Amino acid sequence: MARESVSVAARSTLTAEAKLALLEELQRSRDAVAAAQSTAEWLVTHAGAERTIFAAADHARGTLIGVAGAGVLPRQFKKLSIPLDERTHPLINGLANGKAISFHGPRDARLPLFGDSPFTSVKVGGGGDDPAVGLMLISPAIETPQSSIKWAAEVLGRTLQHVSMPSGGLEDDDPRLRREHTLLFNIINAATDPILFTNMEGQLIIANTRAEMLFTAPDDVSEGRRRAVQLNNMFFSAALSRTALGEREAGRRELLLVDPTEGSDLLFELLSTVVSDAREGTGVVSILRNITDLRQATRQIDENFVRLRAAEAEVRAERDRLNLLIDSVADPIIVTDQEGEISLMNNPAERLFTVVPGSGEEAQRIVRANDAHFTSFVSGLLSTGWETTRRGEIALVDPNTDRLVPVEALAAKMLSEVGELTAIVTILHDRTEAIERNQLYEQLKLASEELEGKVRAATAELANQNELLRRQALELEQASAAKSQFLANVSHELRTPLNAILGYASMTLQGVSGELSAPQRRNLSRIDANARHLLTLINEILDITRIEAGRMPIQVVAFNLADLVHEVTTELEPIITRSRLEVISKPGDVPMMRTDRQKVKQILVNLLSNALKFTQKGSVTIKVQMQGKHTVSISVIDTGIGIPKSDHVRIFEDFRQVDQTPRRAYGGTGLGLSICRRLTTMLRGTLKVESRVGHGSTFILAIPTTLKK
Ligand code: ADP
Repeated sequence: MARESVSVAARSTLTAEAKLALLEELQRSRDAVAAAQSTAEWLVTHAGAERTIFAAADHARGTLIGVAGAGVLPRQFKKLSIPLDERTHPLINGLANGKAISFHGPRDARLPLFGDSPFTSVKVGGGGDDPAVGLMLISPAIETPQSSIKWAAEVLGRTLQHVSMPSGGLEDDDPRLRREHTLLFNIINAATDPILFTNMEGQLIIANTRAEMLFTAPDDVSEGRRRAVQLNNMFFSAALSRTALGEREAGRRELLLVDPTEGSDLLFELLSTVVSDAREGTGVVSILRNITDLRQATRQIDENFVRLRAAEAEVRAERDRLNLLIDSVADPIIVTDQEGEISLMNNPAERLFTVVPGSGEEAQRIVRANDAHFTSFVSGLLSTGWETTRRGEIALVDPNTDRLVPVEALAAKMLSEVGELTAIVTILHDRTEAIERNQLYEQLKLASEELEGKVRAATAELANQNELLRRQALELEQASAAKSQFLANVSHELRTPLNAILGYASMTLQGVSGELSAPQRRNLSRIDANARHLLTLINEILDITRIEAGRMPIQVVAFNLADLVHEVTTELEPIITRSRLEVISKPGDVPMMRTDRQKVKQILVNLLSNALKFTQKGSVTIKVQMQGKHTVSISVIDTGIGIPKSDHVRIFEDFRQVDQTPRRAYGGTGLGLSICRRLTTMLRGTLKVESRVGHGSTFILAIPTTLKK
């Protein structure tokens, strides 16, 4: 502002010539308007003003009206029309107190006379008792009007005192009309909606303040704003031309414009009406209603509506889900409102609390009783303010079956966000099963205790029996030891005379006591054979008793198994020869043995003797092979009579023979295999038989190559 003042002041040096020019112009002026126009123009030309407007105070009509102007369009100054009695108006105020006033914005002057540019009003005329004739409005604003402006205002004031004020820029002389015009103009200016009147060519005739802000741009505004105004004019013209083309009736359409000050989009509803005026001809009155907010609000409402719908659907779905859930629960669920009235219940609850149509008197009574029990339970919770849940037992009756239904009821208050009671949900849990279960459990406990007592008694009995058995075993052991001792003693005592018998029989057979007759020899041979058999028996019994008594110690020696096999076959050579059987020896690749050689030999002799004894024709094979890394197996395979499957176990028992009859074909004691089994056990091995009657037998002895003590 200061800068502008300086520039105006700089140009204030006024030549007398210039002053003279104004005076001449005023002289020539035919009326007040012409005089004011001349002064307005002169101020632009000579006093540094850019734009000026002269507003005349028409005291007869009571209005301050724009009548002349320079640098502005006539329609711009013509719209200046302010009632003189509007004393609060800054311009009227300026007219009254005569001071030059600067207006820095359109709002100050309540009128955008020079667009947004600031301006200064300088009183014209008036002095002493004379009222002021008008105001000279000068843009740009000046802090203090310099002498040339003051001078021009003075000269104009003087001139106008003498020159009558005609109708000026107004077409109508009627003061009433003039007032109406002013009023009307003020009304359309007061309207918050932009209002425009355009001729049929689309040229703007009248626009209110709002419209001017959208569609006019003073020269000094920014480029952006000017462009916005251009665009707005373009859009508006296009919209109007459509109106003009269309029917000559009021039309409504939406018009998107740009706010020149803020650059934001503004959506208007354009209401345009074609009006015909006798003087002005036909034109279009357009009212633009700002619907930007409305549109936004509509959109918001639409969105809210959609959201509401979605929420509604969700609530519905939630309710359905809840219903489904409640119905699918086997326990009765009842929802009661704040008054304790039942508002919802599931199917199991309905069974207890509703009467099936057509049901009898009794069922109705039961339902009423159930209802009473339930209500008294829930009202207990309702009456307390602090409790939120309540648990209790209610005895209900099933109206359909008359069965007593003892239920455990759990009621919970449903509170709203603000803690207000909305409902009470009660779940009833049938306790019949639980009670039955409890009874069953008690019975079971009783039975279990009884059983426990019995088990205790049985255990004690068992302990007694065990003790008895232990004692018997001890006694048996002692008896067995005594028996073994007895047998050993007896055998020993028997062996001595038996050996004497054998010795004498042998000597007699050899003819020591003279020649024997044939019957004598035959009988003596029988004595010898029977004595030998007895000796074998006694020897074997002795062996067994020694093993049993633990008097047969183990003596581990290193030996070659092939040598042992050879030794055994050599020893049994006479029997082999007599049997006329082929004896095959298959010694395998066996490491050095470290075990009791004597016991292995005794087992082998026994097995081989049996094989030779029970085989009529064919062969006997002794096969030695490794079985794993540390075990050797010695198989004695014959092609003899075989052993029935049922005897495979029994033949290893004491005195057990397959043929137990007195007329049996084979001799023997029935102790050989039982001794072999005992010896094998001592060697930590196994003795097994595989045999089929008529196909032969295989006895397999498996022992560790090294016997660890
Ligand atoms: P025995 O002194 O009778 O041979 P063993 O204990 O050695 O007593 O044998 C018991 C019985 O097992 C024999 O009487 C016989 O019936 C049967 N037996 C043993 N070895 C053979 C075999 N190689 N073939 C058939 N039977 C056998």
